[in-house]
Amino acid sequence: MSIYSQLLKELQQVKLIAVSKTKPVSAIRELYDQGQRMFGENKVQEMVDKQAQLPKDIEWHLIGHLQTNKVKYIAPFVAMIHSVDSLRLLQEINKEAAKCQRVIKVLLQMHVAKEETKFGLNMSELEEILAYYIAPDSELKNVELCGVMGMATFTDDTQIVKSEFKQLHDIFLYIKNGYLFNKPSFCECSMGMSQDYAMAIDEGSTMVRIGSLLFGDRN
Ligand SMILES: *Cc1c(COP(=O)(O)O)cnc(C)c1O
Repeated sequence: MSIYSQLLKELQQVKLIAVSKTKPVSAIRELYDQGQRMFGENKVQEMVDKQAQLPKDIEWHLIGHLQTNKVKYIAPFVAMIHSVDSLRLLQEINKEAAKCQRVIKVLLQMHVAKEETKFGLNMSELEEILAYYIAPDSELKNVELCGVMGMATFTDDTQIVKSEFKQLHDIFLYIKNGYLFNKPSFCECSMGMSQDYAMAIDEGSTMVRIGSLLFGDRN
């Protein structure tokens, strides 16, 4: 490893998204009182309900699959959407953000795991979205592409997990250096959960999404 990447790793401030899905507002409040401000939810209705009951300086991160017809409910307040997995969804977020006179930060969810079931873009879908986003006459003025997100395969085989995180980080660099070199806001690589966050940080994660380790197991 080069001294450059070693230093970056040591000095890097990895952001913690506290994943509060299925947990009550009292549990969120408890972490809030300890200073945590970034919380992640995977369901729109649950996020909307909690947002209404909690302090307004919380940054809400949508990390689960998002249906286009539900974007309008979170567009007024959501801080970042990690799970953009189609051009159609990106266009819908853009439309609803415009209605709220906002620019919504988004991450592109990439498919790197072996499992069929996990959502995410493949490389050709990624290229299509990027071409659309960087076009001089792009309509996508109310979304800001801030990085990529992904999940590793659920396995005890650390070699597989590590290689999938590396693959996601390589995609991050490919976009940053090849397409968005003039956009400093493209800087996030959202990867790592309770079981694998240390490996994700080793591979260059800038945001970890941690639930059960903080809040206990979900039923
Ligand atoms: C639930 C969830 C997490 C957190 O998982 P834990 O194993 O509880 O840390 C992270 N990312 C996504 C997309 C999730 O749905």
